[in-house]
Amino acid sequence: MIDLKSLSEEEIHRSMENEGLPKFRARQLLHWLYERNVSDIESITELSKELRSRLSRSYFISKPKLAREEVSQDGTSKYLFELSDGQDIESVLIPDGDRLTLCVSSQAGCYLKCAFCLTGKAGFRRDLKHYEITDQVLSVNNIIYPKRITNIVLMGMGEPLLNFDNVAKAVDLITKYVKISKRRITLSTAGIAKELNRIGRDMQMVNLAVSLNAPNDVTRSMLMPINRKYPLKDLIKACREFPLPTRRRITFEYIMIKDTNDSVKDAVDVVKLLKGIPSKVNLIPLNPVAGIMLERSSDRTIHEFQKILLKNNVTAIIRKSKGADISAACGQLRGKHPAGIDQPI
Ligand code: SAH
Repeated sequence: MIDLKSLSEEEIHRSMENEGLPKFRARQLLHWLYERNVSDIESITELSKELRSRLSRSYFISKPKLAREEVSQDGTSKYLFELSDGQDIESVLIPDGDRLTLCVSSQAGCYLKCAFCLTGKAGFRRDLKHYEITDQVLSVNNIIYPKRITNIVLMGMGEPLLNFDNVAKAVDLITKYVKISKRRITLSTAGIAKELNRIGRDMQMVNLAVSLNAPNDVTRSMLMPINRKYPLKDLIKACREFPLPTRRRITFEYIMIKDTNDSVKDAVDVVKLLKGIPSKVNLIPLNPVAGIMLERSSDRTIHEFQKILLKNNVTAIIRKSKGADISAACGQLRGKHPAGIDQPI
């Protein structure tokens, strides 16, 4: 039995062709799978009863299991999905005015072990398949119907550029069939410099966010071990070469951590580092994560830092954290793996 959702657009076309069916059947299937969001072949009423039962003999449609849903006081919701092999992942829905942004996971767990992030502490489990990424969007759209997700950030569990092919396939299906345009999709990376140019090439037009978090290699490597492999020089070079569409900017995320990356010198160094790159800096006060020794900067320090960036013509926005009371804020996602929490970084 083949899960229809496991097939890419091209593979669906090929499979239907192998079944001896005309081209429009594949298009119908894609429409019902991703636009109508059906969960079994029987519901595809556009196909004759005979065809439905014939297809049901070789194909099925998998469904992710919603294991838990939590709603924060500020309206943010967190969804825990259990995958077919028992792995679990989290997605977070963040309402903001007219927008409904879904923060999507790209891997179960994460390799990168950033010092401030809980997901990394539980270690890496596996890459998500493209449909496990798309399913987060489809499932949440189903849950919140008749409302719809308007924006997507690939900022949940995992490093999207280390699971590039699946992320690219998912983005393709989401833009084509769920009809969320690439301008409303943002991919956030810890800075896998050698993969950045592939975003420009294979996933043209999605927005890019880079988790900067420090303007020098010593601090950045301490916070984000991946910096040893792709130091700032390489990362910034890749950002400069990134084919940005006109009037678009790269977002640099910068977690504010007390006495670590929040000095006046750090702010001045950020300005220097980003010179010439169309950029926008998001200053994020560190969210509390159990078991880490780092503390967030004071509001005053964060405002001082912001002022220096603004004075030097770098757009800088202080982000308010949402969903912290249900552990849905950045860095707090970890599925239900209690084992991970005490592991050394
Ligand atoms: N691997 C990708 C996406 C997942 S992390 C990346 O690194 O960008 C998404 C964002 O959450 C990153 O900007 C990261 O720096 C931020 N983040 C992680 N832990 C955090 C914490 N404890 N407080 C605030 N932001 C955090």
